[in-house]
Amino acid sequence: MRLPLFKTKIERLNRKFNLLDPEEQKEYFQLKTGKEIEKLRDFFSKNTLVVYLLGKKNSGKGTYSKMFAEVIVPERIEHFSIGDMVRAVDREMRDERKREEFKNYLEKNYRGRLSLEEIFLALENRSTKTLLPTELILILFKREIEKREKKTIFIDGFPRELDQIGFSLFFRDLIGHREDQDLFILIDVPENVIDQRIKYRVVCPACQTSRNLKLLPTSKIGYDEEKKELAPYRVEGSGAGFYLICDNPNCKGEKMQRKEGDELGIEPIKERLEKDKTLIDHAFSLYGIPKIFLRNSIPIKEAKNFVDDYEITPEYVFQWDKAKKKVKVNQKPWIVLDDEGIESYSLLPQPVVVSLIKQMVDVLNL
Ligand SMILES: [Zn+2]
Repeated sequence: MRLPLFKTKIERLNRKFNLLDPEEQKEYFQLKTGKEIEKLRDFFSKNTLVVYLLGKKNSGKGTYSKMFAEVIVPERIEHFSIGDMVRAVDREMRDERKREEFKNYLEKNYRGRLSLEEIFLALENRSTKTLLPTELILILFKREIEKREKKTIFIDGFPRELDQIGFSLFFRDLIGHREDQDLFILIDVPENVIDQRIKYRVVCPACQTSRNLKLLPTSKIGYDEEKKELAPYRVEGSGAGFYLICDNPNCKGEKMQRKEGDELGIEPIKERLEKDKTLIDHAFSLYGIPKIFLRNSIPIKEAKNFVDDYEITPEYVFQWDKAKKKVKVNQKPWIVLDDEGIESYSLLPQPVVVSLIKQMVDVLNL
């Protein structure tokens, strides 16, 4: 699958934006797609949609949909993660009273291939490898939606299997969104980008904020002469390394850490990525349901015609200044090979969300 390139560049505009700055980000969106934002604000204040996010694991589904909601109208749009929902059910199962309520709900509402006993067993013995049956996912989903005020939902994690695509085409009826427009958002991110996102990912042990040593550092970088486990940014020929210090003021300088296994990158999830690809290809070829295409990468050769420099993800490089005892942070363009082996840049989330906003206006005929 090759998704079209999307132009977010404005010719002869010299203004540059620092997209990490919330104020500048606001101005950026206003300038690049202010007219469309107004149309969508008006639309979402009166209507709701059902949106399916389809992209490989770690492709940025949450980032894009949360940023979209933030820019348009946060209180009317919700990012709904099936994974989070299932984890919440796991917690319910450990609480005697909630477990009973849950069981009663299933007795009244569940129908499917497995008995309730088997369902409970599946829930209790669940590992990331065993998938819950589709009928159960659907009923859990319906239960969640019924509890909430009606909003636009961006569904993350469904459909996840080929057989679930068929369900998704009729799903809005099931959850009481019968009159709503539904649509697919297909996200294309090179596997090399996903690989680096995982390999350089670090998490704050206190607040769980996730950052990236190479692609999205915090404002303060630490340097340690001994720390050998900080391999990704070890200084050549020494055991020293750099680490990120959490920006959250409540964390009081917590060192961000890498999770075990992340150094393997996409290796452990190869099979999952392959499956996700089949799913996206399948959705791509469906008729009758509108589709929006989001593309994370752009071939270097095309970049200057389609995007502005500051819309490209930089790579951060750290250096230890011995004399001043300070970490120097430098940026350079980050070059990755896309899935076809073409040298490419990876876009920051903001230009991808600009393309989402513009395509949404088209799909909805606003
Ligand atoms: Zn923190």
